[in-house]
Amino acid sequence: MSPSKSSDIDFTTFHNIVDGKKRGSNTAHQGVNPTTGEQLWDVPIAGQDDVNDAVEAAEKAFPGWAATPMDKRKELLQKFVELYKNYEKEFTDLLCKETGKPRMFASQEVQGVGAFAGHHCTLSLPEERIEDDEKVVTTRYKPLGIVGAICPWNFPLVLSIGKIAPALVTGNVIIVKPSPFTPYTTLKLVELAQEVLPPGVVQVLGGDDKLGPMFTAHPKIAKISFTGSIATGKKIMEACAKTLKRVTLELGGNDASIVLPDVEIDKVAPEVAMGAFFNSGQVCVATKRIYIHESIYRPFLDKMIEFTKSIKVGSSDDEGVLLGPIQNSMQYEKVKGFFKDTKEKGYKFAVGSPDVEDTGKGFFVQPTIIDNPPNGSKIIEEEPFGPIVPCQPWSDEAEVIRRANNTNTGLGACVWGKDVKHAEEVGLQLEAGSVFINSFEKPTPQAFFGGHKESGIGGEWGTTGLLAYCNGHVMHVYKEKTEPKPSV
Ligand code: NAD
Repeated sequence: MSPSKSSDIDFTTFHNIVDGKKRGSNTAHQGVNPTTGEQLWDVPIAGQDDVNDAVEAAEKAFPGWAATPMDKRKELLQKFVELYKNYEKEFTDLLCKETGKPRMFASQEVQGVGAFAGHHCTLSLPEERIEDDEKVVTTRYKPLGIVGAICPWNFPLVLSIGKIAPALVTGNVIIVKPSPFTPYTTLKLVELAQEVLPPGVVQVLGGDDKLGPMFTAHPKIAKISFTGSIATGKKIMEACAKTLKRVTLELGGNDASIVLPDVEIDKVAPEVAMGAFFNSGQVCVATKRIYIHESIYRPFLDKMIEFTKSIKVGSSDDEGVLLGPIQNSMQYEKVKGFFKDTKEKGYKFAVGSPDVEDTGKGFFVQPTIIDNPPNGSKIIEEEPFGPIVPCQPWSDEAEVIRRANNTNTGLGACVWGKDVKHAEEVGLQLEAGSVFINSFEKPTPQAFFGGHKESGIGGEWGTTGLLAYCNGHVMHVYKEKTEPKPSV
């Protein structure tokens, strides 16, 4: 029987969760609704004592959870998902408030929790056995212990469950730290999980900028799984080195999209634009540079312009809305910096205004395309994480591949072409963790996801991703020596 709704779950009060219990704090902060600028509910700020208590509870829970058979762990995770599904409407409302996403996409993310957890429940850890005359060698994978999950604000639910599910399936316990910009859905998700999972198995602590470093410094946390910016990723790796924690770093990108000359322009141009603008460009694998073959540069750009002009930017529940606001004021200012630089350098705005209109209400930015800015410009070199994207023409395939690869990042990339085999050949030469042929970037829980170069260390999701939550454990069993039989 599916678990039914609990009267204890209230979507207007928010708590940290330590050892299965709700916990407040003497200090609180608030998120901001990016659509209206209004302050949202109080969230307790966790401190060192809360971290210590959560680690102690996790330590207590770990042996029992690790010893629970994997099938039973999966059963409990599935039960949690069944319970969660009763609350999809409440989570969608909350996600719209904390991120400003259009309802259609907020709802997709909310459903993504079930998809991520569900897929991880179909996976199992590999076991390898090698036998020769002398011995049997078996490689197994064991959980690490306590995982600290440090999450960003662009997909608060999916990027939290993307760490919780593999950690729990593999027998780890986990303490989640949501971004201070989007704490609400994650706090509620973990609160709900307490209805099903034993205390200490999954906990959550929200707080301010001091909290993440408390995770990375704690000697009893075995691993940090981090998703966020390259700059923070470097600080995390440095801090984790002191206790030699395992780290998975899912960081920023500057994805190139290469458009080959044989594409069907009317069909492909809007897709390429959506790859850049989906979630208002606040996607780690958003298309951030578009390279169009010179023979179709103008008509392709024109089609992208036409499509971009048709995109409706607005509030979650506006009819036909495709893009919401930038999630927070810090990011809004950062994105405006790209507009300012582009305007000052005199690069051409193919669509969108050089001046972001400040309405004083909400952090809205219209989708904007920059026509052929030079190599070396800020808009080509850096990740805006907002709805502004540059296009450049190309003529020589080897040269455009070099241009696409000429970056310190390597998260995602796209190649568009009618001749799929040829597009794949181009894709194989791109230095990126995930390459998409004839689609914009759409990561899936089924596949390993991770970055090359400064886009990260390691990765997660899929069977390979499970191993990121494990230590290898190799047993060498020597066979009893049989005495040679005397010959008669
Ligand atoms: P951020 O690095 O500012 O913050 C991410 C998290 O780290 C937050 O929870 C923050 O509180 C915490 N943090 C900050 N300083 C810390 C420290 N010194 N020690 C420990 N934790 C600390 O990133 P953001 O602005 O929230 O997210 C946007 C960035 O994330 C973009 O660059 C984007 O490309 C990247 N991102 C990457 C992926 C991926 O899977 N590769 C996915 C989403 C976002």
